[in-house]
Order: sequence, then structure tokens, then C-alpha cells
Amino acid sequence: MSGGAPARRRPASRRARELPEPVIAYIALGGNLDGPAARIRRALAELARLPHTRLVRASALYRNPAVGGPRQPDFVNAVAKIATRLAPRELLERLLEIEARHGRTRSVPNAPRTLDLDLALYGDAVIDEPGLTVPHPRLAERAFVLVPLAEIAPGARVPGRGCAAGLAALLDARGMERLEDGPRRPGPNAG
Ligand code: ADP
Ligand code: MG
Repeated sequence: MSGGAPARRRPASRRARELPEPVIAYIALGGNLDGPAARIRRALAELARLPHTRLVRASALYRNPAVGGPRQPDFVNAVAKIATRLAPRELLERLLEIEARHGRTRSVPNAPRTLDLDLALYGDAVIDEPGLTVPHPRLAERAFVLVPLAEIAPGARVPGRGCAAGLAALLDARGMERLEDGPRRPGPNAG
């Protein structure tokens, strides 16, 4: 030990009590530029490394025709289930940081993008603040989110709308192509 006053450490039990309970959240991932499938897999590993966060499960990857915007390549989409102690705003900030590391730029709405990470659901929270709306406002119309969500969590509740499987069944998913078997749990080497 070096000199000076010993570091004051609070007992682990006390520290644990100060952390909020983990909340189950669902992240919608998507991209259509620069190797989107490999990029989504890397982004899943990055979600698994977020502080105070555990990647519980990831859906298969799906190929989807782009909706709206200019003519552009097909998208690859997936949904991740995480357990997190991060508050919603902090989690969104972390998602935007991951997007930025993947070279995400914003031009016009529905433009092609390397990586889009949306906070689809955060427990049963309903949030309507500048810059953060949860559930994600277009969630219930988007087969490319609801189909992978229903794959890993058919009973997940979308507050005010119903369960993931019921909502997915209402949507036209004919353009979607599943790219790999799922659902997967992160293996011992994941992340
Ligand atoms: P989109 O995902 O709809 O194509 P963007 O990714 O460009 O659009 O997001 C634009 C802004 O939407 C973000 O900067 C963020 O502040 C805001 N936003 C509001 N609610 C959410 C949410 N639940 N998940 C992700 N971004 C959100
Ligand atoms: Mg987004």
C-alpha cells in the first residue's frame, strides 16, 4: 500500500442498493450501407459491452426492402433484448454514440445509413420528451422491428398497443427475408 489515507470503500451490498433495478429494453438495429449484416453483428457485441447492461438475446438478422426515401439498398434489421440499469436518456445517448462510431450521418429522413439504433421499448415506460419518444413512435407500423421482436419476445407489451406477436401479425411481412437461424443467446465468447 502507498501512503496517505486509505481509500474509503462502501460495502458491496450498499453500492448494489444504490443502483436501480435492471429494466428489460428492446433495441431495434438497422442499416443498409457498408456491409450491414457484419455491422449489425458488431453493434450487437457493442450493446453487450455497454455499462450496467447485459445482452439477453438477439433475433435473427432480416433483409428488408427500404421503406420511403430515395432508391437505396435493402436493409438488414434485428432486435436485441437487453437488461439495463441505464436510464432511458442515458441509454439513448449510448446508442447514438455507437451509431456515430459506425460513421452514421443524418441527411434527409429515410436516407441510407450505416447503422440506426432505436430504443423501441424500455420496460413499460411511456416517454414523450424532446428527442426521446418511447415506445418508438413508428414501432407499431414497422414489420422490420415487430417481426424480429415477436421472434424473441412474442409477449412483449407495447404500452397502449398490445403484444409484439399480435401487432406483428397485423403487418405485411412478405418482403422480409430471414438471413440466419435464431433466436440466439450470446455465447460465452460473445461481446
Ligand atoms: P429514424 O431512426 O426515425 O430514422 P434518426 O435515427 O435520424 O431517425 O433519429 C432521429 C432522432 O430521433 C434521434 O436523434 C433521437 O433523438 C430521436 N428519437 C426519439 N425517440 C427515439 C427512440 N425511441 N429511439 C431512437 N431515437 C429516438
Ligand atoms: Mg434512429
